[in-house]
Amino acid sequence: MLPALFVSHGAPTLPFDDVPARDFLRGLGQQLGKPRAIVVASAHWDTDTPQANAVPVNDTIHDFGGFPQALYEIRYPAPGDALLAREITALTGGKVDTVRGLDHGAWVPLMLMYPRADVPVVQVSVQSHKGAGHHIALGRSLAKLRDDNVLVMGSGGFVHNLRRIAPPGAPEPAWSREFSGWMHEKLMAGDGAALSDYRVQAPYAVQAQPTEEHFMPLFVALGAGGKAERLHSSATFGSLRMDAYSFA
Ligand code: ZN
Repeated sequence: MLPALFVSHGAPTLPFDDVPARDFLRGLGQQLGKPRAIVVASAHWDTDTPQANAVPVNDTIHDFGGFPQALYEIRYPAPGDALLAREITALTGGKVDTVRGLDHGAWVPLMLMYPRADVPVVQVSVQSHKGAGHHIALGRSLAKLRDDNVLVMGSGGFVHNLRRIAPPGAPEPAWSREFSGWMHEKLMAGDGAALSDYRVQAPYAVQAQPTEEHFMPLFVALGAGGKAERLHSSATFGSLRMDAYSFA
């Protein structure tokens, strides 16, 4: 069975940036093999209640501004899977969106992992105002999809504070390392109680995740899977952590 997966997508320019996280994602698809379909919870679709997109072919949403033109020319036309989207909404009590395509939280890692865009993709939304416990439950409701060779993944950022980013190559600040170290320890220990209370218990939690939408995809993956394993760890722009975990 495929593990559930959490990846950090970093800056939208990741496909063009010569950084370890890009090379890691390029190898990850081959390492996992090709699933029947991918369900991806992205930080960049934040709604009141769970939603899943049901489209024949996914549009590529360029949901950012001020980047090089080449980035706006990228297309990732992965097929959708309307039946799977409806199954997801039945499992989560949510609703389908029959228009929306893939935002860059989804297509940036997926174009590196599965560059042929030949695996059906359904994107699901996060509800960042509902916190970690809600997303663990959301992930749990998606866990059975893994029995059917579906890759359930979350795409966000392990440390994500855009006000604190530094030039490329800048050293990682201590607060980012402390927060990440605490999270890693609790993930490895499978300490769900501490993890779901990370906002109170983790050092520098509010500094590392000033808004929670980039962290909630981690909890979707945690809920959908089992034992944690760290697949990748790096930082770009000082504190922008690119860590990835599997939950087998
Ligand atoms: Zn993002």
